[in-house]
Amino acid sequence: LTVLGLESSCDDTAAAVVRQTEGEPAQVLSSVVHGQTELHSAFGGVVPEIAARAHAEKLDVCVQQALEQAGLTLQDMDAVAVTAGPGLIGGVMSGVMCAKGISAATGLPLIGVNHLAGHALTPRLTDGIAFPYLMLLVSGGHCQYLIAHGPERFTRLGGTIDDAPGEAFDKTARLLGLPQPGGPSVEAEARNGDPKRFRFPRPLLDRPGCDLSFSGLKTALMRMRDQIVADKGGLTRQDRADLCAGFQQAVVDTLAEKTRRAIALYLETNPAEPVIAVAGGVAANTAIRSALESVSADAGARFTAPPLHLCTDNAAMIAYAGLERFRLGARDGLDLTARPRWPLDQTSPAMLGGGR
Ligand code: ATP
Ligand code: FE
Repeated sequence: LTVLGLESSCDDTAAAVVRQTEGEPAQVLSSVVHGQTELHSAFGGVVPEIAARAHAEKLDVCVQQALEQAGLTLQDMDAVAVTAGPGLIGGVMSGVMCAKGISAATGLPLIGVNHLAGHALTPRLTDGIAFPYLMLLVSGGHCQYLIAHGPERFTRLGGTIDDAPGEAFDKTARLLGLPQPGGPSVEAEARNGDPKRFRFPRPLLDRPGCDLSFSGLKTALMRMRDQIVADKGGLTRQDRADLCAGFQQAVVDTLAEKTRRAIALYLETNPAEPVIAVAGGVAANTAIRSALESVSADAGARFTAPPLHLCTDNAAMIAYAGLERFRLGARDGLDLTARPRWPLDQTSPAMLGGGR
């Protein structure tokens, strides 16, 4: 099966071609991503209207480039998959309209994909892992523990009750005057910092379960920053690095402990070969990856994380998730709607397999 995928739910316009022959590993034949960081940089965040216009302008270019790089044409595709939510509605609609146009013009089956399922299924694309696996989905807008039972069947074990970690990294960068996206810049600063100089809270560790909270870290950071400015008139390079290191360590420690608890719940499902997988933009963070790796090793489970370019938003994950749905027999019609909200543990209209 060969599937064209489209992604436009946030600030990356992307198209990709993924192929899988039965019984063999899936292959990413092409993956084109046009980021919009410069368009939004003056505004300190993604501006939905600007994002939607840029997606509408760039989608056809991306599709053309993805096909060219794969050395294929639309006639070689078996289906066209598109992010149908969740995300910024204008962007999602641009992608859905584009995919409908392709489907209507070529007769290719249309497959709507949940963006979060795209992230959550990526370790199957990159590492061929089997269900059921434990997934920590950590991104710009989400943070949740899921047991993936099938391409459309996820059980949620817990998640953030306020901010997502990516959002916290981005806010931290903004508060310290570092460039966006905040994750990579905070991680780079943290490398030269002392994580012990500032004591950040470890939210919700005293409570049972796998729920997380990250908004308090931002408040703590703001207070520490203001105190330094009041005392010394400004932040030195070292102050900034130490604040980043302290913040990142708090995120790492919290995720490590909650992952331990999620693993315990996951192991109760008696998986034959336990696998812990992480995905989403924040999974690009080296400190977080290595902490999760050691927690998994302690529990005797295998750990897998996609390469960095498949952790952040891309269309290969959408093409692959579409391929998995297509293989199950799922098809969407031209009445497919764009959904701004779409929780992953909520069944899609075309869902097969009898729910969970
Ligand atoms: P969602 O998938 O929840 O809709 P999104 O698509 O905007 O949100 P992603 O593209 O998956 O999110 O991830 C982007 C986020 O990942 C940003 O908040 C960014 O700061 C964060 N991020 C990227 N690299 C790193 C890193 N090295 N360390 C920490 N965070 C990172
Ligand atoms: Fe994403």
